[in-house]
Amino acid sequence: MGGIVVIGAGQAGLSLCTRLRAEGYGGALTLVGAEPYPPYQRPPLSKAYLMGEMARERLFLRPEAWYAEQGIDLRLGAKAEALDLAARTVRVGGETLGYDRLAIATGLSARRLPAEAGGDLEGAHTVRGLADIDALAPALGAARRVLVVGGGYIGLEAASVARKLGAEVTVIEAGPRILGRVAAAPTADAMRAIHRDRGVEIREGARLDRLLGDAGRVAGAALEGGEEIAADLAIVGIGLDPRVDLAEAAGLDCTGGVAVDATGRTSDPHVWAAGDCAAFPMNGGRVRLESVQNAIDMGEAVACNMLGADAPYRPVPWFWSDQYEVKMQIAGLSAGHDRVVTRGALPSLSHWYYRGETFLAVDSIGDAKAYMVGKRLLEAGRSPDPAAVADPDTNLKTLLA
Ligand code: NAP
Repeated sequence: MGGIVVIGAGQAGLSLCTRLRAEGYGGALTLVGAEPYPPYQRPPLSKAYLMGEMARERLFLRPEAWYAEQGIDLRLGAKAEALDLAARTVRVGGETLGYDRLAIATGLSARRLPAEAGGDLEGAHTVRGLADIDALAPALGAARRVLVVGGGYIGLEAASVARKLGAEVTVIEAGPRILGRVAAAPTADAMRAIHRDRGVEIREGARLDRLLGDAGRVAGAALEGGEEIAADLAIVGIGLDPRVDLAEAAGLDCTGGVAVDATGRTSDPHVWAAGDCAAFPMNGGRVRLESVQNAIDMGEAVACNMLGADAPYRPVPWFWSDQYEVKMQIAGLSAGHDRVVTRGALPSLSHWYYRGETFLAVDSIGDAKAYMVGKRLLEAGRSPDPAAVADPDTNLKTLLA
């Protein structure tokens, strides 16, 4: 069998397959996923689904019948074990599949605490896959004192759900501030204030040494330095790593993720990559974007390139997070900024980041218009006048004129 094989049945893998068919690709198409479920949405996992406000069936991106209708051979609970670039084959669950072109969309794996740090204790949870949330949600409903390890999106979204469910919540963040990897300092300051207002204790510069157990269950945590915190449930959101083992073992360049060129092609001309695991050229370096938007858009772009479009993927990244009733939205990448312009104040606040005169990114909290206008300016490669942005009397839409 030849055709196209897509490894990874998440959002990027599905996006790839959907676009391949939409572009008229009529050959064999196999989608291989290690989890036992068809592709599902991840964003609600740490929000509405964890809160018990969203039915499980609504997570699935397509009904199972759709895959057969589209002529997609969906292999679930099937791990791709070995990739042979020279033979153009991939071994999946003991079977060897041939391919003409292959796409890797294997995503990320959440870092887990090792057993010696209490990672195996009952009550120690990770937030990544559907099975993680199916285990966490009932336990969270019964928990009284929740410790969240890590102050990234995962930790803060989980903290907001735990608090809404009535638990006492402490977040410990090893870095000097929350959201260190994903948002700039002024946005982190605002999000910290929102959490503290709702009674969440946020401890920054506090690194977990180990979870403490009592009869095999989480009973608390010891921080580096010796301080102890009581807890009956721990949520571990300490970051993720790109899943590159298959690609790396095959001999593909895996610098910073599965390394690809601007069209999504790896160091092997028959192999492509898309989504969270793919490291592509951007801003003079190589980046991976961990976001659902990137999974969808890069999946589509790579599908077109696998069919010969040869079009570089140049996204304007965007991210969002829901915490309590607050929506935080980010467009662009603020890394490298030397100036921040503030517009408004909570509950409707935005920060606009510049390097010199060049507009890089906007973070908005409760201000959808700032996000929408900022994103459109970035897409057009335009830099708005900082004084106009800061002026509360400026109607932001006039910046688009
Ligand atoms: P993250 O952004 O890397 O944050 C993890 C934090 O945990 C880091 O600040 C890290 O600090 C800290 N940490 C690591 N070890 C620690 C320890 N022993 N004690 C205390 N703190 C520790 O990652 P995340 O929040 O786990 O996951 C983010 C991922 O979820 C992304 O892939 C994203 O796509 C996805 N996601 C996105 C959204 C969204 O866009 N709305 C929402 C949810 C999830 P150091 O850096 O100092 O080690």
